Amino acid sequence: MSQAQHAFMAPIVRLIETELAPQVQAIDREGLYPAQFMHKLGALGGFGAALPAESGGAGRGLAAQIEVTAKVGEHCGSTAFLVWCQSSCAWYLHNSDNPAVRERYLNDVAQGRLLAGTGMSNAVKHLAGIEKIHLRARREGDGYVVSGSLPWVSNVGDGHLAIVAAAVEDEGYIMFATPSTAAGFESRPCLEFSGLEGTQTLTLRFQNVKVPAEDVLAHPAQFKQYVSRIKPGFVLGQIGMGIGIVRACIGIARDSNASVGHVNAFLDDQEGELAARLAGIETQVAGLAPLAQAGATDMLPVLKARAAISELTLKAANSAVLHAGAKGYLMIHPAQRRLREAVFVAIVTPALKHLRKEIHDLESRAAQAGSAEPAPPLHTAAA
Ligand SMILES: Cc1cc2nc3c(=O)[nH]c(=O)nc-3n(C[C@H](O)[C@H](O)[C@H](O)COP(=O)(O)OP(=O)(O)OC[C@H]3O[C@@H](n4cnc5c(N)ncnc54)[C@H](O)[C@@H]3O)c2cc1C
Repeated sequence: MSQAQHAFMAPIVRLIETELAPQVQAIDREGLYPAQFMHKLGALGGFGAALPAESGGAGRGLAAQIEVTAKVGEHCGSTAFLVWCQSSCAWYLHNSDNPAVRERYLNDVAQGRLLAGTGMSNAVKHLAGIEKIHLRARREGDGYVVSGSLPWVSNVGDGHLAIVAAAVEDEGYIMFATPSTAAGFESRPCLEFSGLEGTQTLTLRFQNVKVPAEDVLAHPAQFKQYVSRIKPGFVLGQIGMGIGIVRACIGIARDSNASVGHVNAFLDDQEGELAARLAGIETQVAGLAPLAQAGATDMLPVLKARAAISELTLKAANSAVLHAGAKGYLMIHPAQRRLREAVFVAIVTPALKHLRKEIHDLESRAAQAGSAEPAPPLHTAAA
């Protein structure tokens, strides 16, 4: 790590160790939402690592942002997801062609003064041919009026911003920001989750919510190009959650081996194998991040890296709980929590099944274009 990287990361690591680490049980078991930690992390540049200074960022690049998320994930996968939500909203705003929306929100989001959620799962799944779009917009003046609901959006609620997408009849799609105070906009609690309860995940309802032009990140004519610009970065960004959880799981296996290594040696997915696979993914991500930032990466290697971290996170968390044995089955043991966090990495959009579908679709299209046989359906996404 260079001196400049160290100078950026050291205060962030200190904050994680002093403020987040003591709260992880309360976050997991009581659904504590770590708002103060998020604000402080934002002040240290923890959401704007990938953005230049004029966008309120720290100018360290996307790989540094992924490392911040990973460092948080080493202690708490749930909060690592919040870091991804917030840093993705900053990424969306920074990449918008519309100066008014950047002017309104970018600096506050990048520096964590305004906490923000990304309700993009439905749109991303819709664009991949998986489900219908849930929000509908019609034009009104130079803005839009939006109705519909999204069932699960994290890092939202009173005083927050939500960034979502809607279909505009006969025109395509828009992406826009909605402050919690907008008339006709409300958020409601969801049924209890088995993990990630500290992410303030709510159902968002839009009833004829007016979206002024100043809140629009992409109009229909801009949308397609805009999504291609932001997607590699936000999908790569999620890998940070998985990296942090895998590192923690390797640590649990190592600690357990100190007393019961003589029997743990018979388990699958040993510490060394997991560490080697993790190093492979980290190398891939280090290569892809600057390309994503420059708008010069293909989607396929990004999707494959994201699928690989989902698979590895599931393996590592299973291995950690098996290494820890009955102790790892106690609710207070981190191995238990890591198992639930790991499943989330593989089910949050793009979920593992979604990734394998998109990988299959892209490879089939490439094979057809090359007049070769279409690729067979994927059962295991290549790492
Ligand atoms: C703890 C938690 C936090 C989450 N946080 C966010 C977040 O911050 N932002 C976000 O956009 N998503 C969030 N999600 C949603 C998540 O990304 C997936 O969309 C969701 O887990 C469903 O994926 P699936 O592959 O199981 O759905 P599928 O099995 O493909 O779909 C099941 C059906 O459920 C409905 N459905 C599923 N997901 C959605 C959706 N997102 N919107 C509308 N309808 C849907 C649809 O009718 C769909 O056909 C969160 C989920 C969880 C469990």
